[in-house]
Amino acid sequence: MSFAAPNFSLEGRRAFVTGANTGIGQGIALGLASAGAQVICAGRTPAEETVEAIGRMGGKAQIAALDLSDPMAGAAVLAEHGDLDILVNNAGIIRRADSLDFTEGDWDDVMDVNLKAVFFTAQAFAKHALARGAHASIINIASLLSFQGGIRVPSYTASKHGVAGLTKILANEWALRGINVNAIAPGYIATNNTVALRADENRNRDILARIPAGAWGKPEDIAGAAVFLASPAARYVHGCVLNVDGGWLAR
Ligand code: NAP
Repeated sequence: MSFAAPNFSLEGRRAFVTGANTGIGQGIALGLASAGAQVICAGRTPAEETVEAIGRMGGKAQIAALDLSDPMAGAAVLAEHGDLDILVNNAGIIRRADSLDFTEGDWDDVMDVNLKAVFFTAQAFAKHALARGAHASIINIASLLSFQGGIRVPSYTASKHGVAGLTKILANEWALRGINVNAIAPGYIATNNTVALRADENRNRDILARIPAGAWGKPEDIAGAAVFLASPAARYVHGCVLNVDGGWLAR
């Protein structure tokens, strides 16, 4: 019998993480660095705290300025950073209003950052990886609202359903060419994105009552899934949307 032990190491690999200054992106950047990757922390707010924390861990990281309100901006910034092995499309925004009142601006802003930028950043990353003939991994950050409707967040829900679909089509096209494309669907994670929900006593109570694990998740809870999906151990995992949600979707 032959058995190759699963390899979760990211030693020698270079990762590009969008929205790495805070929240889930920061947790993922720290997680990838802890597994040995060098991390380019990209975003519109400089990710100094993240880069310093990685340095304290003995890892390597740097900042890249990237504003994805221009959804085509990722391609140019990726090109400045040479050979990359891992892309994490994490940056995302949310706008809340009743669907009857929802504006075109709130529709377009969210779709640009959460969906259009995800596709064109992945496209640019894949062109480089395919030109090098190197194995590469793309991890998109989806949501519970890739599966459920939510309420008062129509563009967010549409964008995150789109992220799940894009993850599958890109996996179909690129799996045979050495690129693993997968997504993580975080449940309710305590970050800036969820401040309003946690501050609303009734919503907070209702949310907690429905989570089998009984607590909000933390950014580091998403990091382990990202390390796995970026690692050689996930070589046969393609087009998967991995729920990390304290059991929410199982309920
Ligand atoms: P967060 O703390 O608000 O972080 C969002 C990140 O995206 C920040 O780094 C932000 O940068 C960046 N970003 C936003 N607009 C950008 C732009 N135009 N250009 C570049 N970067 C931009 O929220 P989070 O909860 O960590 O969210 C991260 C991802 O997880 C998002 O895709 C979100 O939809 C998803 N998610 C979150 C939850 C949750 O419960 N928290 C659940 C499911 C999915 P700035 O700091 O400069 O704004």
